[in-house]
Amino acid sequence: MDDDVQVLMPVRSAPSLPPPRVAGASGDPEVDVLIAGYGPVGAVLAALLGGRGLSVAVVEPRHEPTPLPRAVGVDEEILRLLVRLPGLAGLLDHVHAGGRQMILGPGRRVLLELGLGESDLGMPVAAFFHQPTFERDLRAGIATLPTVQVHRGRAVTALHQPPAAGRDNPAHHEDAVTVELDDGARLRARWVVGCDGASSPVRRMLGIGYGGTTFAQRWLVVDVATPAPLAHLPYFAFSCDPQRPSVTIPTPGGHRWEWMLLPDEDPQQMTTPASVRALLRPWVDPDQVQITRTAVFTFQARTADRWRQGHVLLAGDAAHSMPPFSGQGLGAGIRDAAALAWRLEEILRGLAGDDLLDGYERERRRHVETVIAGALRIGRLVQTTNPTLSRLTRTILFTLDRTPGLRQALRGGVTHQRPRLPGRIAGPLPGAGVVLPNPRLRTLDGHLRRLDDLLTDAWTLIGLGADPVAGLDPMARAWADRRAATTLAVVAPGDLHILAGVTCPALEDLDGTLIRLLTHSHPHHAGHASGLGHLGHLGRGRPGTGSAPRPPRVSATRVAVVRPDRFLLGVFSTPPRGIDLPGFADSPAAQTSPVPILLRSIR
Ligand SMILES: Cc1cc2nc3c(=O)[nH]c(=O)nc-3n(C[C@H](O)[C@H](O)[C@H](O)COP(=O)(O)OP(=O)(O)OC[C@H]3O[C@@H](n4cnc5c(N)ncnc54)[C@H](O)[C@@H]3O)c2cc1C
Repeated sequence: MDDDVQVLMPVRSAPSLPPPRVAGASGDPEVDVLIAGYGPVGAVLAALLGGRGLSVAVVEPRHEPTPLPRAVGVDEEILRLLVRLPGLAGLLDHVHAGGRQMILGPGRRVLLELGLGESDLGMPVAAFFHQPTFERDLRAGIATLPTVQVHRGRAVTALHQPPAAGRDNPAHHEDAVTVELDDGARLRARWVVGCDGASSPVRRMLGIGYGGTTFAQRWLVVDVATPAPLAHLPYFAFSCDPQRPSVTIPTPGGHRWEWMLLPDEDPQQMTTPASVRALLRPWVDPDQVQITRTAVFTFQARTADRWRQGHVLLAGDAAHSMPPFSGQGLGAGIRDAAALAWRLEEILRGLAGDDLLDGYERERRRHVETVIAGALRIGRLVQTTNPTLSRLTRTILFTLDRTPGLRQALRGGVTHQRPRLPGRIAGPLPGAGVVLPNPRLRTLDGHLRRLDDLLTDAWTLIGLGADPVAGLDPMARAWADRRAATTLAVVAPGDLHILAGVTCPALEDLDGTLIRLLTHSHPHHAGHASGLGHLGHLGRGRPGTGSAPRPPRVSATRVAVVRPDRFLLGVFSTPPRGIDLPGFADSPAAQTSPVPILLRSIR
């Protein structure tokens, strides 16, 4: 184990985690999850599963990560997830936080400027990173996880899963997949995840289609290293120049340009040093930078027809691929990994049935389709070469930017539309599908913490004004215990005394973010100005006011139940009952209980 690598993800006690398997019934080595592909998505999934103590085998033909970056941009939610992974604790020190974005016209005239605003996740709203450094650090972190083995220099060549595996015949015991590698080795895995890129051999082995469009439009990508950041180009910018649409992006230690190639241009000729220098010249002195990479890409907007077949799943580019204009391709894959990791853990620990995975594709496909539609819209805007259309677009953008009031709003920080799981998919509870914010809190011992510092990769229960576990019925308590759920109690500033005697961490919600979330999620509290006044009736009387202290509240007035991937399952206005909680019906203790409605809706 490398002592320099700090594993930041808080370790939680795993009460019933089965030990890693070493051999299956057939004698082949057996693991919980085999991941085909050690690209960025496979690596993030390996870190998330290995961090949970699950046994993981990763198979990857290449010995080293790709030395040249593809993705450069990630958003706040992805950063929030990444900084918790082993090896990536220092990630924020190595990213270029993108404070604003520009849309330029010919001659680099600013048409529209957008401020990116503040994030309530404690991260830059958007940031640019160096993919090879990120992959190297993550791999070093994964090397510290004892249950993850990486088979480099080998490829998955065949998959065998019993026809009866999966939902068709849940009684079938042989619920594992045998995976053949190109050196003749065989591995058995309870689950296989194909993170093997857009041309996914796993997807092809399963005979799953990859519908959508490949665009004829070619873009030339040039990365340069610079001795210092280019002070005259500090922000991400799209250039809506019909002569040559382009993108310029500051990156850590350098800069990236992407230029659209025109239909009659020869890619080989355009990638010669002379051509690249000519393209760079209007932006920077080519002698002052070192060209590190030149490549021509085409883009596609495609999704796999199915993301699961029996015990084999697809994630990342294997499941979807999109034009890069919204910078979400890798982010989407990382979201897949987060959506898969907790579901696989629940299933592998016997806490939920396989159909928990039905929610994976439902949830993720909807998001991916939305992002692809957005990327295509941006692409149409940026790639316009029709002079009339381009002039019209530029005029509209310029007018918007110069409209009094709107200009200040746009520059001051546009409201970031964070993806929320669609209601029908996230479940019926108030607040379902909302991303848990990451506010600043004060602990009882006077420390200032971000909420994330107090969370693990397990479920979380947040009680308003009391310990969220205090009012749970025995079945709900058992549900939380089996999942080693994190429990927190939160109050408004100045009300910490209300929480005297609670056994979970007691927290003061410094700017009321959590309290608003807990109270506003309920229809009859909507419109409440701050949400904080609601807590008046919870108090025992302020110390020193002369009123006799009353015993602490037995149960919280609201309980937020947060999934391990930090989406809200929802806010309960009374302590949740065991039968209200997902997976409950699959646990041994609940075999005779009625199946809750909620369970059906989150799958
Ligand atoms: C020019 C460009 C710019 C981009 N910019 C951004 C951006 O700014 N932000 C963003 O979020 N995304 C961006 N993307 C998209 C992003 O790069 C991809 O979505 C991301 O790299 C996909 O990661 P992945 O792990 O799913 O697949 P890959 O990175 O393709 O990894 C797949 C891995 O599977 C391995 N493999 C293949 N066959 C087998 C087999 N038989 N067995 C086992 N392993 C196998 C491969 O060797 C590879 O290592 C950009 C893409 C391009 C091309």
